[in-house]
Amino acid sequence: MNYQEIISKIYDEIKCDFGKGKLADYIPALANINCKKYGVAISTISGAKFNFGDAEEKFSIQSISKVFTLTMAFCRLKENIWQRVGKEPSGNPFNSLVQLEYENGKPRNPFINAGALVLADIVLSEYEHPQDQLLSFVRELSGNEDINFDLKVAASEKEKGFRNAALGNFMKSFGNITNNIDAVLDFYFHQCSISMSCMDLARSFLFLANHGIIPGNDKRILTISESKRISSLMLTCGLYDESGDFAFRAGMPGKSGVGGGIVAIIPKELAICVWSPELDKYGNSYLGVETLERFTTMTGVSIF
Ligand code: GLN
Repeated sequence: MNYQEIISKIYDEIKCDFGKGKLADYIPALANINCKKYGVAISTISGAKFNFGDAEEKFSIQSISKVFTLTMAFCRLKENIWQRVGKEPSGNPFNSLVQLEYENGKPRNPFINAGALVLADIVLSEYEHPQDQLLSFVRELSGNEDINFDLKVAASEKEKGFRNAALGNFMKSFGNITNNIDAVLDFYFHQCSISMSCMDLARSFLFLANHGIIPGNDKRILTISESKRISSLMLTCGLYDESGDFAFRAGMPGKSGVGGGIVAIIPKELAICVWSPELDKYGNSYLGVETLERFTTMTGVSIF
């Protein structure tokens, strides 16, 4: 398949839509990004790579990091993890507090912020050097040793992180956060601040498209069943309260972040990452969703 031609054609079709979304200015360090940035990278299981635009430029991965911490937490707690966090779509915004009270401090799923704070708590308890081990894991998955936290972004989010602090404290009152809240928030803001390019992200999600094994070095990260579970959660919850619409339009499991990235996979085939920082009203990249819908429509490659 000539993915190269398709991704440049998609750009020509959507470039008139710059300006329809809005930057994530609630994190001050993300408010000054050039909103015209746009990149796409595709990595296939057979080792082919395609990229377009700003695909090599690093950006803030934000909630895409939740897939990495879910993988780390799942590796340790196995199926017991579902006692701490649910697996249903929330139908609410990513930073919402409302369901938590009705549901006794157990977040609906691992990808809303409340769920990711529980994952952060698990990683803090289960790993001896959580930040270093997260970075090593992401470096291994992406094959790029030059991946780091962006300390300015982490500090900027911490300064305004009142909602996440509220979520963490609220869950602690139900006993679903075991570590000190400040330590959990600090880890969470660091994981969200990781800087990666579309090329890094496409490569680092390939293990999920490959039944839990990193293609190339053949290292198994998850069992087939665990890899299925994480991919299924991406399909049902990866874009928050836009997950249903995204599944309808693009037909692939994906995970977004408010830095404007979306990574999606086609099992046994490829991982694709799009970056465009202007967000729609759900906090997902406006042009990212447009791009992925066109990608599966034009190629006929989707999970269905
Ligand atoms: N760090 C962001 C927050 O907690 C992540 C949200 C996101 O990317 N959807 O608000």
